[in-house]
Amino acid sequence: MKEYRPQEIEPKWQKVWEEKKVFETPQCSEKPKYYALVMFPYPSGTMHVGHVKNYTIGDIVARYKRMQGYNVLHPFGYDAFGLPAENAAIAHKIHPKKWTLDNINTIRGQIKKIGITYDWNREVITCTEDYYKWTQWIFLKLYEAKLAYKKPGAVNWCPSCQTVLANEQVKDGKCERCGTTVTMKYLEQWYFKITDYAEKLLEGLDRLPGWPEHVKTMQRNWIGKSTGAEVDFPVEGLDRKIRIFTTRPDTIYGVTFMAIAPESPLVLELVTEEKKKEVEEFMAKVALEDRFKRTSLDVKKEGVFLGRYAINPLTGEKIPIYVANYILYEYGTGAIMAVPAHDQRDFDFAKAYGLPIRQVIKPKEGEWNIQEKPYEEEGIMVNSGPFDGLESTKGIEEVTKYIEEKGYGKKSVQYKLRDWLISRQRYWGAPIPVVYCEKCGIVPVPEKDLPVKLPENVEFLPTGQSPLTLSEEFKHTTCPKCGGPAHREVETMDTFVDSSWYFLRYVNPKLEDKPFDTNDVNYWLPVDQYIGGVEHAVLHLLYSRFITKVLYDLGYVGFDEPFKNLFTQGMIYKDGWKMSKSKGNVVSPDDMIEKYGADTLRMYILFMAPPEKDAEWNDAGIEGVNRFIKRLWNNYYKMIDTVNSSEDTECEFGKEEKALRRKLHAMIKKIKEDIEGGFKFNTAIAGLMEFNNQLSDYLETAKKPNKKLLREIAEKIALIISPFAPHMAEEMWHDLGKETLIVEERWPEYDESALMEEEITIVVQVNGKVRGKIVVPAQLTEEQIKERALESVKKLLDGKEVVNTFYVSGKLVNIVVK
Ligand SMILES: [Zn+2]
Ligand SMILES: [Zn+2]
Repeated sequence: MKEYRPQEIEPKWQKVWEEKKVFETPQCSEKPKYYALVMFPYPSGTMHVGHVKNYTIGDIVARYKRMQGYNVLHPFGYDAFGLPAENAAIAHKIHPKKWTLDNINTIRGQIKKIGITYDWNREVITCTEDYYKWTQWIFLKLYEAKLAYKKPGAVNWCPSCQTVLANEQVKDGKCERCGTTVTMKYLEQWYFKITDYAEKLLEGLDRLPGWPEHVKTMQRNWIGKSTGAEVDFPVEGLDRKIRIFTTRPDTIYGVTFMAIAPESPLVLELVTEEKKKEVEEFMAKVALEDRFKRTSLDVKKEGVFLGRYAINPLTGEKIPIYVANYILYEYGTGAIMAVPAHDQRDFDFAKAYGLPIRQVIKPKEGEWNIQEKPYEEEGIMVNSGPFDGLESTKGIEEVTKYIEEKGYGKKSVQYKLRDWLISRQRYWGAPIPVVYCEKCGIVPVPEKDLPVKLPENVEFLPTGQSPLTLSEEFKHTTCPKCGGPAHREVETMDTFVDSSWYFLRYVNPKLEDKPFDTNDVNYWLPVDQYIGGVEHAVLHLLYSRFITKVLYDLGYVGFDEPFKNLFTQGMIYKDGWKMSKSKGNVVSPDDMIEKYGADTLRMYILFMAPPEKDAEWNDAGIEGVNRFIKRLWNNYYKMIDTVNSSEDTECEFGKEEKALRRKLHAMIKKIKEDIEGGFKFNTAIAGLMEFNNQLSDYLETAKKPNKKLLREIAEKIALIISPFAPHMAEEMWHDLGKETLIVEERWPEYDESALMEEEITIVVQVNGKVRGKIVVPAQLTEEQIKERALESVKKLLDGKEVVNTFYVSGKLVNIVVK
């Protein structure tokens, strides 16, 4: 019998697929379209099996949809600019371009060995001129739409990466890339005005039922919308008001002090002479603290009285103003009305500084000791003048209305989302396409002059200033407007700008005069299935949605959400850790392919756990899957021998044949449901394993295996496994005598009538005594079986009342009568 030799058959079929261009996607087709997309990688180093998981899931989807008759777009590319490449290049003392392109060549070779169905003609590499030209074009479009602007301000600075970071790239006060504690720096920087899209980004989430709920929640929380009121508190003795934002205007009668963020210019404006020294010392101290930590709930609340009072506009009451460590300047207005009775942080501060705690909301039922614990829930308004007795939710509306009527303030919506900081002081990125002219100021580079090329001979070691400043040749240019001397922007764009639109470029990767063709992207997008890691929930996925919405508003695309369905796969761990070179626990796909073949690797990765869950790599596990594949192979070639033998066994199906055929069709049905119902590839493979055992039993015990049945099984098995283990499926199909390529075949349908054949015998009891037997189709529901049981003993029950019926699954029904 033919032996299983993946090292021979896998390269063979990969070559055939490539030569016959089976994975090239025609731009137009009569078939319905399906865009299957995996998040493209940073080409930093080689791939490990964790990456393979992402690409294998994508490939199953692409192959399955292809077999269902779709015109499938399944492209691949590389997020090739950015710090990982630059840092690695510095460490290895080679140019980032060479380092990146070398890695891309390695990765491409690795992927080809896995047998993924990418259309390599559509490969996109973001660091190439023909790509970043259009990233710069996107910048210009945003600039024209007044959505790209430059402003000075405090920014997050990573001292290790020597560059600024967007808020989204700071996790718990640390650099998302390297884990270094982020500090503040004052710099003039370029921003994208994502805040203009806060409401649209929120609203769009409601139209994405195909996204995981937790990802949508993360985006909603990141955007952080809160509705409330802005209120002006006059300062006593000064012609000055302090504007605050509150989500709880219903508690305004409980304000007993005000608190201002240490970074707010208001502090020095309001502080009295006597308090100045104390306040300045406090501010110097806070400036050294981590601003993410200092605002957390459990940190000690500290502050200093400014010597100044504000007036509560609703009560006319005088309230002290403090500078306090727990207020952040970036959120709201940087000043708050403090209501210690109904807010934990205000409560802690009031306790520490002996400030009054006045209850203005009481629970609807029961008592609450406000001196012990703040009451933060909804309730009934008390001590609130004309609003006493009102429910607090209603109170929010009523008080806001009153504030508006009196001119004290207005209804207001606030977002936590801040504008997207896109300048980077690093070398390996797309230059920001603007020049600075003494006469004309900021002048965008005209579209016809794109790309602004990234010079190659630049000293790119991080120094804190942009490496491009060191290139005189790059820096000096002429003003596109007046022709006078000008200098170029020396900063480069955040790589998240590159990846915010790459899914559009795959549609027309070689177009020279446009980033993409509007008709073509409107045909292919939105992406039908996007697959990637959940770590991108508020970075890449939010930015891509934003850029798509901008392009939609500018009329370049006809859809405003880029990804219809999103699947976030779990990670693969080894020895309990994320795979990394430094931990020495990287499992290389090349080693596994050499040892077991790509089909085993693919199957094992899908079998180890539900794909959305993290999973631990286990050498015994891949061994086990490999043994299964070999058993399946052996069964298959036994079947082929029978099918091809001259002996005539095409007789009627006996009981065993019927049973096996039923199991075959039950498996086809199960695998279809597993794939379509949330990518349950692990249970799909388990179903295949179970069937293979049943097939083994049949092949071992049948005196004369039925030719007709085995031919059917052989055909169906090859088709079913082809998305999972495509190379062996192709080989099997060929050896079955087929002349087509299995990748171009259709996914098999299951035969409903084959499923119906299984019958089970049920004992019918009345009050515990056996009264008969019924034979019923196995797929009946419990209710249907009970009904048939009742029907069968109807005569015996005449005139008696049925109290209850019990069903023991697959065995008996007991009817209790009296
Ligand atoms: Zn860093
Ligand atoms: Zn000029």
